[in-house]
Amino acid sequence: MNMIEQIEQPEFIVTARKWRPLLFSDVIGQEHITNTLRNALKSNRLHHAFLFCGPRGVGKTTTARILGRAVNCLNPSADGEPCNECDNCTGVIQGRSLDIIEIDGASNTGVDDIRQLRENAKYPPSTGKYKMYIIDEVHMLSNNAFNALLKILEEPPPHLMFVFATTESHKVPATIVSRCQRYDFRRMELNSIINQLRTISAKEGITIDDKSLMQIAKKADGSMRDSQSIFDQVVSFCGNTIEYKSLTDALHLIDEEFYFRITDCISARDLNEAFVISQDVINKGYEMTETLSGLLEHLRNLLTIKATGDTKLIETSDAYRERYQQTADQFTKPDLLRYIQVINQTETSLRFASQPRIKFELALAQLASMDKMLEVKDLIEEIRKMDTLPAEQSEVKKK
Ligand SMILES: [Zn+2]
Repeated sequence: MNMIEQIEQPEFIVTARKWRPLLFSDVIGQEHITNTLRNALKSNRLHHAFLFCGPRGVGKTTTARILGRAVNCLNPSADGEPCNECDNCTGVIQGRSLDIIEIDGASNTGVDDIRQLRENAKYPPSTGKYKMYIIDEVHMLSNNAFNALLKILEEPPPHLMFVFATTESHKVPATIVSRCQRYDFRRMELNSIINQLRTISAKEGITIDDKSLMQIAKKADGSMRDSQSIFDQVVSFCGNTIEYKSLTDALHLIDEEFYFRITDCISARDLNEAFVISQDVINKGYEMTETLSGLLEHLRNLLTIKATGDTKLIETSDAYRERYQQTADQFTKPDLLRYIQVINQTETSLRFASQPRIKFELALAQLASMDKMLEVKDLIEEIRKMDTLPAEQSEVKKK
């Protein structure tokens, strides 16, 4: 239950490492890349340099390592997968391979590091067919380091391969990019993350409800690795049974319920409640900026329902769909757009505010004081009514 027990377990391995895919077919959500690589392996048409681009935690390094094993595997499968059992494969898995070398671009950024690499790269691989350098965060290399790297890329010895991974491909010089085969990794879809966490929980004997899975996946923001770190954090806090309430405590999350309370307050134009809510934000220790971006997402959900007429496009658990629909019915599109504008402006001004609390409080008060706007068609209807009123009144006067 508590964290001390967790740490004292000698065999505890973080989920992201424990469940790291060992085959191309296990890499989730990147089939467009893993299939291409397997085809290249099968037809023996591998390029000597790859650039893996994409957000963090979506499988770039994992795929590079699988590729590293696949090129040197003594017993690869017919569909291009490494066997993960031969000496070359296990060498990489156990981190003792001399042929597959991982370098962190962030801490080896200098030209000397790359010169050293160039020197070592000349020597043929020790046990495998290829020597592969995997350079993570390659955009962090210095200009001189890139120039040194370029020299090997221009005339690489036949045994040499490179995989460069980066979250910021625009920072990699065009001269390097043009010598690589570029692969763009996708952000993880919410459902892929949820399914993977569900599988892991089942295998680990952990009970977790759908609402909690959704919440973890959302917080991970498209990163599988982040989702697994958050999962570990929650397990060490909650133990093997994870319920939504304890999850929000563990992650110090703002419950969706809280945002409904805010929109209820705006809808009722309850200025008093607006001040009570901002007091609650302070008391509960919520971050102002996090609260605002959560509120923005909440309003965006309501606007989506207004625009599309249903709740299919919003990321929430089924328990909340009806509640969203009912809340959306209380507002018009122009209302929601104006609220979003106020929140956007407040978010920007919070960055420079000396008293963010006051900015936040005033923004809520402003939202709760705004007159509701009408849709254009309703507005026309209202004007029609107003037009007829004076006429009726004047008729009354005539009489
Ligand atoms: Zn093998």
